[in-house]
Order: sequence, then structure tokens, then C-alpha cells
Amino acid sequence: MPISAAVIGAGPAGIYAAEALARNVDGITIDITDRLPTPYGLVRAGVSPDHQSTKAVCRVLERTLKRDCVRLLGNVALGRDVSLDELREIYDIVILAQGAEEDRPLAIPGEDLPGVYGSMDVVGWYNAHPDHVRTRLHLERIRHVAVIGNGNVAIDVARVLNRTPEEMLPTDMPDYALDELRRSTIETTSVLGRRGPLEAAFTQQEITELQHMADANIIVRAEQIPASADGLPEKIRKAREANLRALRQYTEPPKGASRRIAFEFFARPVAFLGDDRLRSLRLERTRVNEGACEGTGEFFEIPCDMAVTCVGYRCTPLPGLTLDERGILPNEDGRIGDGVYVVGWAKRGPSGTIGANRSDSQDVVRIIAEDAGRLGGKPGGKALDTLLDRRGVETVDFAGWKRIEAAETAAAREGAPRRKLESIAEMVAIARGRA
Ligand code: NAP
Repeated sequence: MPISAAVIGAGPAGIYAAEALARNVDGITIDITDRLPTPYGLVRAGVSPDHQSTKAVCRVLERTLKRDCVRLLGNVALGRDVSLDELREIYDIVILAQGAEEDRPLAIPGEDLPGVYGSMDVVGWYNAHPDHVRTRLHLERIRHVAVIGNGNVAIDVARVLNRTPEEMLPTDMPDYALDELRRSTIETTSVLGRRGPLEAAFTQQEITELQHMADANIIVRAEQIPASADGLPEKIRKAREANLRALRQYTEPPKGASRRIAFEFFARPVAFLGDDRLRSLRLERTRVNEGACEGTGEFFEIPCDMAVTCVGYRCTPLPGLTLDERGILPNEDGRIGDGVYVVGWAKRGPSGTIGANRSDSQDVVRIIAEDAGRLGGKPGGKALDTLLDRRGVETVDFAGWKRIEAAETAAAREGAPRRKLESIAEMVAIARGRA
């Protein structure tokens, strides 16, 4: 009996799941939907514009989208255009791969002050994500930025905000963001970790990369860097030693540059302070006790006109889907319920590199393949087409996406890979041959 599958989300986790399904389940047909008209999820809209080599993984993902048994259905949003119940009636297998698209709140006073942003918004802004192109950062009014968190997203945000426009010209950073970099008056960016360098989640490569910044000094306080990572579990010790080595190179007096990125460890934000907008950040000095962050009762303030919280993500709540306290979809090794599965960040939380999604999706598909014997017989993609037609949903297929891609490539600045379209309506018009 033919088997049909819907994968919700055309990011790496969803596409890797589709690839594994195509390889492991005979005769399967797979529809990959995405709420945007464009595929590749966080590779397109999360990976920094100055990391184009990472974005090259799209060439591998594209091979799956070109498979005969796979269809891309962009511009189809779960919860808006089709419900989970409807998908379950139409497809034998539904794989949720929509990622974690909301910032986890820091949950401290003042978080709603103008000037406080979540990293989803800032990363989306410098990547021309249609949801975030209208965010206005007004960098011409900013002198002090606080980047909260010690993961790679925090490093990305601190780095990109302190790039010179010339550094970003050969990237796909949108023109409006480049203009803000030109106007930027940022002097100091504090990267704040509530724990110490040993516990930081960022990786050596990202810290080392900072030394090549054209006009930013990196500052690390020598007294905050421990002598070694001895005593840490073996499986993380090497990586943490590498982080310490990478950080130590910035403890020397800085060379001349107009801005500074200053790492401050053992500092836990307790309140954003301001009147009509953010003016400063209140922090508590911490110590680490057996890996846990403890307050010392010593408080201090730093000036701050802009803050970006980079403290992780959670899924967007959708009708029919319950999230757990971590903001992910409760599941057992990827299985949610009869015929419904989850992969990627929606399954395991917002962690891991793009490649980690490959093995993770393959593991879930192994479980699906075991279930496949008792699945089958549902109408499949044609029924979704009928339903979406009736609702007037303008879907974007792979050929339509390639038209968007061609338009973006043709419009690129000299030396840049593409100029991303910023409006969904314009993308759909181009994809469907109306523009
Ligand atoms: P992450 O690696 O989990 O880091 C989150 C950071 O937020 C941690 O330092 C965490 O500190 C801190 N944090 C959480 N709650 C906090 C609170 N209430 N107050 C203060 N700090 C808090 O997450 P991420 O940076 O969002 O990255 C997500 C994943 O994408 C990671 O696997 C990352 O490596 C990957 N990524 C990779 C790249 C790259 O390879 N270049 C770029 C971007 C993202 P604690 O440890 O103390 O909880």
C-alpha cells in the first residue's frame, strides 16, 4: 500500500527527515510544507550572513527537494492554512519539523522596554526574515549594547552588530541592515555570561574568529579565566580547554579599534532599567558551585541603550499541540502519537549544529520505518492540494522557489551571493510567475 508523509517545516531537520524517509520507506511520497515561500529554515534565516560557507549546505538539502517522490509546498502555514487534525486525516505520517521560532523570555523586570530585543528578532533582522524586516534597531542612537547569553547565537549577534559595512558588503545582509551599520555609533558591546568561561556554551571557532574583526577590540578579563578545565567530565573537557585558550588571546591590552566587545562572566541580569526606553542593565555578580550559578548578593549596573537576549528558543504554541515546560513538543524518541512524529529543535530543544539534525532525523525515521508496516491507505498530497485550493492558498513549489532564488541572485550587490526578497507577497508573485 502506498504511504504518504507530510513534513512540516523545510529547514534542515525536516529535509533530512524527508531524505531518510525516501531512502528507507519504499513507495513513499513526501510533501514538505513551510509557512514561508522559501526553504532551508535557519540555514537561510538564522546562520549569520558572514557565514556563507555554512549556508552552502543548502546545495546538499536541495538534492532532496529535487527527488521525484518529494514535493515542496511553501507558503502553507500549519494552524492558518491547514490544521494538524486535517493533516492526520490526509497523510499516513506527519513529521513536525517547524523548529523553535520564539525567544525564551529572560523573565526579569523591564524586558518590555523599548531597546530590549530577543535574538530571534535581531538575527531575523540581519538575515531579512520576512517576520523581522520591519524591526528598527536605530543603531545611530546606540553606544552601549548588552548581549545576554554565552552561546554561539550571542557571539553571532555581538560579531555582526560590530562588523563594518565593508565587511558585510560581500554577504547577503539586507541593504537596510547595512545602512544601520553605516550609521552605527556602537562603542561597547558587553557579552554577559551568568556562569564562567568553563561553562560557556559557545565554541572555540566562533571565539577565535573574532580576532579577524576589522574594527573591534575583543576584551577578556584575565582574572576571570581559570588556569585549566581539569575536573570537567572528559567528553567536554577538550572543547572547554579550547575555549579557554581562545579567550586567553584577548586578555592582552587591546590594539586600537573604534569599538570593543567585552566579555563579562559571572554576571546575571536582574533588571532592565529605563524610563521611556532602556538606559541601563542591573546585574548580580555570581559564582559557580558544582556547575550551578549562585548569586553573591553583590549588584552592579552597566550603561546600556540596547540589549539582546540570546538565551535560547521555544516552539510557537499551535492549536492541537501541547508544549512542555521547556517549550518543546513532548515526545518519546520523536514519536508523539499515532502517525505523528517530531524532529529537530521542536523535538529535542534548541541545541546542536545543522549536522546534528541529520543523525537525529535519521534516528526518528528508523522508528517511523518500524511503524510503517501498519500505516498506509490515507489519501495523501492530492487531498491537501484540493483543500488548499478551496481555501485560496497560493502554494510555492520547488520551481517557484527556484524563480525566487533566481530573482534574488540577479539582484545581488556586486560580490554578494543574493539580495533577499523581504516581502512574502513579492516572493509568492515571483514564484507563481506574476512578477
Ligand atoms: P545555547 O548554546 O543553549 O546558549 C544559551 C545561553 O543562554 C547559555 O550561555 C545559557 O547559560 C544562557 N542562558 C539561558 N538562560 C539564561 C538566563 N536566564 N540568564 C542568563 N543567561 C541564560 O543557545 P544558542 O546560543 O541560542 O544556540 C542554539 C544552538 O545553535 C546551539 O547549539 C549553538 O551552538 C547553535 N549555533 C551554532 C552556531 C555556529 O556554529 N556558529 C551559531 C549559532 C547557533 P547557561 O549555560 O548558564 O544556561
